[in-house]
Amino acid sequence: MPLPSIIAIDGPAASGKSTLGFRLAEALGYLYFDTGLMYRAVTWLALNQGIDIHDEAAVTRLAEDVPIEVTAPSLEDGRPCDVVVDGHDITWDIRKPEVDANVSVVSAYPGVRRALTLQQRRIGMRGRVVMVGRDIGTVVLPEADLKIYLDASPEERARRRYNEIIERGGRAEYADVLEKVRERDRIDSTRAVAPLKPAADAVILDSDTLDADQVFAKVYALCKA
Ligand code: C5P
Repeated sequence: MPLPSIIAIDGPAASGKSTLGFRLAEALGYLYFDTGLMYRAVTWLALNQGIDIHDEAAVTRLAEDVPIEVTAPSLEDGRPCDVVVDGHDITWDIRKPEVDANVSVVSAYPGVRRALTLQQRRIGMRGRVVMVGRDIGTVVLPEADLKIYLDASPEERARRRYNEIIERGGRAEYADVLEKVRERDRIDSTRAVAPLKPAADAVILDSDTLDADQVFAKVYALCKA
């Protein structure tokens, strides 16, 4: 059996999708593409340009007009890739709490999704790709050869997010992080267009009971099966 060429990984925030996707792409020699960073880049741009995040038409125009460049990492500071918009390296800016707090509003706009899905599909259909997001198996690449839905409880995901913030020298309250994870889940899974949900033919894995190595081993075995 040939290896699956198009691999879709979906799941909620902090379920371990990026870690799995990055590792899998490296092991297979495939392109790793994290679609969340495109929604984050549009959100950062809107905030940076002082555009009201609830102005759907203005935010949609940004998504349609501004090219988001995603290239191989130029620095060894833990980044999986460079994200450049309008000449600014925004790789780390798009991970800031103000982007976290607004990205689900932006990603619920149908016009924003249309513009970004088009670009994602173009990249994905070339094959030899591991694409990570919320709607890859359901909307962006329904023809994917292998679909994984990586889940974990909100409590476990909040614990990981909280630890990440503390390890980076930031400050946070666990209860606050948990509330934000729940709120993002709620918006992502109840929006009208491309809500977060497993594709009917996805393999569902629970990372509450499996650590990162076990998740990787299971998915790698599925690729080789
Ligand atoms: O994966 P990450 O947490 O970086 O994604 C940020 C946000 O982008 C998600 O909370 C979701 O609102 C949105 N997103 C999406 N569809 C995708 C990827 C991300 O709606 N394919």
